[in-house]
Amino acid sequence: MNAISPAALAARLRGEREILAVAHESPDGDALGCVTALSLMCERLGVPCLAYIPGAAEFPPEYSFLPGLDAVLRGAAPVLAPGTVVYLMDCASLVRSSSLGFGDDVITVNIDHHQDNPGFGSFNLLDPTAASTTALLYEVCVQGDIPLDKEIATALYVGLLTDTGRFQYSNTTPAAHRMAARLLEEGVEVTAVYRKVYEDVPLAKLLLQQRALSRLEVRLGGALVTAWLNTGDFTSVGADDGYAEGLIDTLRRIKGAKVAALVREREREGGLECRVSLRSTDGDVNVAQLAAIKGGGGHVRAAGFTSAGGVTETLDWLEREIRPLL
Ligand code: 5GP
Ligand code: MN
Repeated sequence: MNAISPAALAARLRGEREILAVAHESPDGDALGCVTALSLMCERLGVPCLAYIPGAAEFPPEYSFLPGLDAVLRGAAPVLAPGTVVYLMDCASLVRSSSLGFGDDVITVNIDHHQDNPGFGSFNLLDPTAASTTALLYEVCVQGDIPLDKEIATALYVGLLTDTGRFQYSNTTPAAHRMAARLLEEGVEVTAVYRKVYEDVPLAKLLLQQRALSRLEVRLGGALVTAWLNTGDFTSVGADDGYAEGLIDTLRRIKGAKVAALVREREREGGLECRVSLRSTDGDVNVAQLAAIKGGGGHVRAAGFTSAGGVTETLDWLEREIRPLL
């Protein structure tokens, strides 16, 4: 694997002719924080940059305030101008960025904090101890003398805030707090960001949560908490797939829960599939390993996969797999 340091990555970035900034499909705050932050960094450096998220779904609405988000491309991968280098962020695998289909000759820079990232890039900036992938971009700025400003800091902060569960998850290290302090010095408006990300909830999102909670079920004596949503739920309340972001956090809160699972059905070519979000409360069950069995992945305490099976089949499978782990 060809590892690259944050400072060397900054030097590379300065010399790029053009880049494509990509993060994973079904983007979360870290993915969207990454593409917007890197786009802004490029703008400041005078490097042409397009930003792209695979998948056609709307982004979760709570991130719509991120600077430059409107310019992020969606859907099919854009055609690359010759010499464009692809920067993949927060993607545990190339598959997760939906096998972008760029030729083998395209240079890729892989920036990520997932422990299962195999280092598939031409250059790899990987650190599983980083609280978020935006924390790695932050190191690129600090160690590579790319000046921070309020907009870049806000984008980096959103990734840090959401991936640490508002500075509560086990990845909330002193380094994460030091980074936050430095970003606040750049003018990040903590309360305004908090209101946008966690409080300005569209009604449709709460109605979706209501439907999910109406299917709340505990299995394995309470250790496994599950809920599900079908495509009809999304259309009846007027919610896009992105509105499901964060719903699983409610399931995980239930006393006695070891694993929380939210299954959401979605359309795909020629039928339906299930997107499964998994959370482990105390890390006793490694949900990344569980997701990997089905071709997914993630972190020990937060992982996901896509299943061709139906909701019931998927939940029964989870129960069978988790039972011996308890
Ligand atoms: P979420 O449940 O929020 O979609 O994802 C939780 C975590 O699991 C994230 O860190 C995400 O990157 C990872 N993850 C979710 N789905 C997949 C998947 O299909 N493949 C891989 N490799 N990781 C996933
Ligand atoms: Mn992340």
